[in-house]
Amino acid sequence: MTVDIAIKEVEYNLKLVFLGPPGAGKGTQAAYIAEAGAIPTISTGAMLREAIANKTELGKLADSLISKGELVPDEVIIGVVKDRLKLDDCKNGYILDGFPRTVKQAEALDEMLPDAIDIALSLEVPDEDIIERLTGRRECEKCKATFHIKNNPSTKGDICDKCGGKLIQRADDSAETIKNRMSVYHAQTEPIKDYYKKLGKLVCVDGVGSVEQVRTALFKALGL
Ligand code: AMP
Repeated sequence: MTVDIAIKEVEYNLKLVFLGPPGAGKGTQAAYIAEAGAIPTISTGAMLREAIANKTELGKLADSLISKGELVPDEVIIGVVKDRLKLDDCKNGYILDGFPRTVKQAEALDEMLPDAIDIALSLEVPDEDIIERLTGRRECEKCKATFHIKNNPSTKGDICDKCGGKLIQRADDSAETIKNRMSVYHAQTEPIKDYYKKLGKLVCVDGVGSVEQVRTALFKALGL
């Protein structure tokens, strides 16, 4: 009940960005906060995968870059996010997962919207843990919920607990692509932490532990 009351307080205007390496648990944890605050999660990775599935122009451009673990060009993804943030469901706040991914994107976001971000939450997970997490990660084909074969399995094996969809491995969760995604992360994405630190918006949370432990730590850090 206490939680419900706290949730009501953030139902309006929480603009959050999730930082952290691929596989840190951003998507999983974002879903909890989004539900609690009744705000949308905007995952650029999910939007790009949808574009690939729908064979749009954006999808065609993104396909080979994603499968190599490279980033989509800044100007392309900035345009996608700009359009998405104009939609009505963003007026009471949002959670950004996977964007910004370069300092240029972070700067563009601040130019796009005054006070685009209240808090930048960085989920801290060491490199050693990331490989294990990414290779064991599974995603629901239908509702996009994420699971892990050991740490957060579906009770129904390779069927999604939430919607009954089929659980699959993402194409870019292969060992070779993971290596490149990690080096791209350290070179291009990690410097964003400093960007938000200088703005006094960075909050770091230990992302090692069970999904439940990390969720508790995150909610505490957000004062929920
Ligand atoms: P994610 O689901 O966040 O791990 O993203 C999967 C892939 O989509 C990344 O490895 C990139 O190739 C691409 N991608 C997602 N978000 C961005 C972004 N903000 N900028 C550039 N590329 C992105």
